[in-house]
Amino acid sequence: MLILIGTLYFFYAVLKLYISAAEIRFVSHAKNLPAAILSSENYQKAAEYKTANEKLHIVSNLYDCALFLFWAVFGLKTLEAFCMNGGGVFESVIFVMSFIAVNYIITLPFDIYSTFVLDKKFGFSTISAKTYIIDSIKSAAIFLVLGGLIIALISWIILTFTWWWLWSFAAVFAVILFINMFYPTLIAPLFNKFTPLENSELKSSIEGLMQKAGLKSSGIFTMDASKRDNRLNAYFGGLGKSKRVVLFDTLLKKLNSNELLAVLGHELGHFKHKDILKNIAVTAALLFALFAFFGNLPNGVYEAFGIRSGAHGAIVIFLLLSSAVSFFVMPLFGYLSRKNEYKADEYGSECESKEALASALMKLADENKSFPRSHFLYIAFYHTHPPLVERLKALGADV
Ligand SMILES: [Zn+2]
Repeated sequence: MLILIGTLYFFYAVLKLYISAAEIRFVSHAKNLPAAILSSENYQKAAEYKTANEKLHIVSNLYDCALFLFWAVFGLKTLEAFCMNGGGVFESVIFVMSFIAVNYIITLPFDIYSTFVLDKKFGFSTISAKTYIIDSIKSAAIFLVLGGLIIALISWIILTFTWWWLWSFAAVFAVILFINMFYPTLIAPLFNKFTPLENSELKSSIEGLMQKAGLKSSGIFTMDASKRDNRLNAYFGGLGKSKRVVLFDTLLKKLNSNELLAVLGHELGHFKHKDILKNIAVTAALLFALFAFFGNLPNGVYEAFGIRSGAHGAIVIFLLLSSAVSFFVMPLFGYLSRKNEYKADEYGSECESKEALASALMKLADENKSFPRSHFLYIAFYHTHPPLVERLKALGADV
């Protein structure tokens, strides 16, 4: 059984490596084409950034494979011998938390390299070591409390119900909805400062847009994103009709009002077309399928990893293998999402104008140094948005 699982995992890893290598090859050719959209200097920089990032992905994928082997052959049994006696809820929590903590610590160097070396070199990252450490401590604290409670709940469900995978699915889905609902007001303020938007003209324009899309504003805020990163973004938070609008200070600095309203119009298009609800439904379907799959694994799977099939085993096997399983349905997600993006672009350009949205998208790409072309396999597996060149063509721009 371990050979079978190992082979399937190997296939998944090789596919990921192949896609990264194909993307690197694609970019090394495409960077010699005339610069599309970006200035030629930024086009070259974007190609360089993309290549460096994909190389890092390759190394971290190889690292993940080694980590998988470590857990499969040796790690899980050792951890079980170390902290599981009876198999109750508390022991399960310790087991699962230790598993996650080891993974976190082992992959930390990649995060540090990407934040402090790569993203600094390309002028994105502005974070100080102090902020990084404070962020990490806060995240760890949130994980200990929230993560601990969730793992305890799932362990209890597994130990109590025969159809545990169905109840676990319901619980995890409820937690996801809960986090979506409360993230902007409870968690995000722990990391960033939110200031009500002062520009009253812009404020009333945004409220007007929201009203047209059938939404109500529960506050429009700017966020001090620039203390960590220079990239531009904006989002609408909260479920239901009442939305909290968050504009990154970096976005406000770079876009004029028309462009900003076109970008927000695009986001509102997602609400208007019920994309958020559709996304939630698709996520629920995927989660359901994953829980049904992992909830009915034969005992041989646990034996292959040398552990028992109790709550701790079920959760850890889910964490270890679910990303590999769900990777193969990503193209379907991506396809649906990319289709929605075109429709949201249409709505955004109706709110303002095609020109305003096109020029905003170009500025975003230029500032974020996103390379505007990609290999078709890379697009299929990783892109939730169509390549910028295609979006601009759809907006009637001459690119
Ligand atoms: Zn979108």
